[in-house]
Amino acid sequence: MARTQALALDAADTLAPLRAQFALPEGEIYLDGNSLGVLPRAAAPRVAEVVSQEWGHGLIRSWNQAGWIDLPQRVGDQIARLIGAAPGEVVAADSTSINLYKVLHAALTANARDGRRVIVSERSNFPTDLYIAQSLAAQFGCTLELLEGEAIAQRLGSDVAVLMLTHVNYRSGAMHDMAALTAAAHRAGALALWDLCHSVGAVPVDLNGAGADFAIGCGYKYLNGGPGAPAFVWVHARHATAQQPLTGWMGHAHPFTFETGYQPAAGMARFLCGTPPVVALAALECGVQTLLAAEPLGGMAALRAKSLALTQLFIEQTRALPLTLVTPEAPAQRGSQVALACPADIDGYAVMQALIARGVIGDFRAGAGGEPHLLRFGFTPLYTRFVDAFDAAHLLADTLHSRVWQEPRFTHKAAVT
Ligand SMILES: *Cc1c(COP(=O)(O)O)cnc(C)c1O
Repeated sequence: MARTQALALDAADTLAPLRAQFALPEGEIYLDGNSLGVLPRAAAPRVAEVVSQEWGHGLIRSWNQAGWIDLPQRVGDQIARLIGAAPGEVVAADSTSINLYKVLHAALTANARDGRRVIVSERSNFPTDLYIAQSLAAQFGCTLELLEGEAIAQRLGSDVAVLMLTHVNYRSGAMHDMAALTAAAHRAGALALWDLCHSVGAVPVDLNGAGADFAIGCGYKYLNGGPGAPAFVWVHARHATAQQPLTGWMGHAHPFTFETGYQPAAGMARFLCGTPPVVALAALECGVQTLLAAEPLGGMAALRAKSLALTQLFIEQTRALPLTLVTPEAPAQRGSQVALACPADIDGYAVMQALIARGVIGDFRAGAGGEPHLLRFGFTPLYTRFVDAFDAAHLLADTLHSRVWQEPRFTHKAAVT
């Protein structure tokens, strides 16, 4: 493929206008939207308005007059449109880790009992998910069993209380079949809990279609909600009376009657805990709206088609490099990122630092316990162009062939990789 062909794909791309929604740094190719989404142009003026007008002038009145108190539901309803959920089924609140604690606790409360005390998850799941599950397994007298690949579905027997999976793997970019695994969990009498951190805004998700039980996800990755943006939580309507453990006043049926005893709110408000972070939710709303802006252009289905085309282009253009493709090539098994493993004689961390110095921003994920070290490239179809994927592949090739990464300045490790 020639560079002109990539440019032709961009010229024919009906989603191309969506890129104008973002304040992208000049001269850089940003392939890390799977870790921190790009700043939407609307976010800075909106946050300034919330701060100077709603806070500065409205002060306490803004809880009602500016609708601050409804932000978790309002932003949740917008996220619901991206994940096959109905209005009222999603709230935006807290972090992914905290929301996972709430829903895994709720799932275990509902389904863990004598003879059914196993939580099944994936060994290569994101560590915070495993750490939260370890804590709850201890509390509920359960065991956490970590498996990979086909062994996950095969393990779903009558002793399993909860299947807890991340839909798209943060390292490999491999995507599970949510509908099939949810159905398999249900056949075994287990509940299915999905982490959508690398799915929401990246791939179409149909929680109600799959009949999943609980889901959580992240606001600062493909939702472009800003660093540390609030996360979200979804619960299937059949679990409307499920109870979560963080029984704060915002989850109370009547927070402003200041009752002594806790009484859970009807509906998803019971999955809230404390006061909503208004400024952060306002920024998150701007991020979610960058995705909803794609609805008239074909929505998540159109974004998915472009995402697959971008990752396919990058895979093809990096195939000859001395790196190993870890991401599945089958489109149905691939999320919106490409991960390339480094052989022992190539320092992946230094390669990524050298690539960043040349204006291509991806990231490096160290492999624990014998897993390979990975170069990760996230492709956000809202703002990534085909020519970006092409140029990034060729700058990566040049970085490897020139061995520029061996310069000492690229090997110094910062706190966040
Ligand atoms: C990004 C990510 C998280 C992040 O959790 P925080 O509570 O926001 O730090 C959790 N799980 C997965 C699978 C992720 O990809």
